[in-house]
Amino acid sequence: MTDTPAEDTKPAFRSEVAVELVKHAASDSDVLWAARVSTVGEQSLDELKKDPERSKGLINYLMRDRHGSPFEHNSMTFFISAPIFVFREFMRHRVGWSYNEESGRYRQLQPVFYVPGEERKLVQEGRPGKYVFVEGSAEQQALTGRVMEESYRHSYEAYQEMLAAGVAREVARAVLPVGLYSSMYATCNARSLMHFLGLRTQHELARTPSFPQREIEMVGEQMEAHWATLMPLTYAAFNANGRVAP
Ligand SMILES: Cc1cc2nc3c(=O)[nH]c(=O)nc-3n(C[C@H](O)[C@H](O)[C@H](O)COP(=O)(O)OP(=O)(O)OC[C@H]3O[C@@H](n4cnc5c(N)ncnc54)[C@H](O)[C@@H]3O)c2cc1C
Repeated sequence: MTDTPAEDTKPAFRSEVAVELVKHAASDSDVLWAARVSTVGEQSLDELKKDPERSKGLINYLMRDRHGSPFEHNSMTFFISAPIFVFREFMRHRVGWSYNEESGRYRQLQPVFYVPGEERKLVQEGRPGKYVFVEGSAEQQALTGRVMEESYRHSYEAYQEMLAAGVAREVARAVLPVGLYSSMYATCNARSLMHFLGLRTQHELARTPSFPQREIEMVGEQMEAHWATLMPLTYAAFNANGRVAP
């Protein structure tokens, strides 16, 4: 990794996250191939298209009875741009995931910051484990945007002041907030993605409800949409069996 020159230093404020599927080798036939090797042997690829209903039934059976390993023989790499507080939660997912995140030591961090959009519910009611989020008032919305932007500008000015004085990037970055955007590659397989989605999305078909922070759920929803296109039978079986990873 090499140094890059300073880029745009004017703060920008965003409310959305971005997820791009950059690379994949993932299809329903990967699941069938892996599952059938135990009964049909290595010639099983030939069998895949012969009986689509049987293939669908096999995937559903594997999902229902939690035979998980056939769902690991595939790969999806996503490029994700989201605030650091999302990545902090994301990287708690250790099994079946690989990560590479942009460096704050080798390059100057760009001033792109998260401000909740109008649709983001701002007010928490109830107690942990049993709470809901409700709309904030217009005043709370305006205050949140104003205070966040002021705070972000102030932090980034402090960062720039230290860089201008010759302080190392790895030291100066300590003043930057978790609302700063970062980017990473995240590679997973269908099994690890299902575990992630079961925990990081709220869904009416989930057997065990989860209560994720909205911003990581926004990332999860975009990943889910990509995955559903690549592996429609597996995706349908996941939903049909309560969105529990096998
Ligand atoms: C709504 C929500 C709220 C949360 N709040 C908090 C919080 O307040 N504080 C906090 O610290 N974290 C919190 N977390 C993070 C949570 O505790 C997990 O770290 C995170 O969801 C990753 O889940 P995981 O460990 O199952 O995933 P992975 O790390 O991907 O592991 C997958 C599975 O592998 C097995 N496994 C992995 N590692 C081990 C191990 N060392 N020993 C035994 N089995 C293992 C387990 O079966 C595990 O489910 C929260 C998560 C959610 C979804």
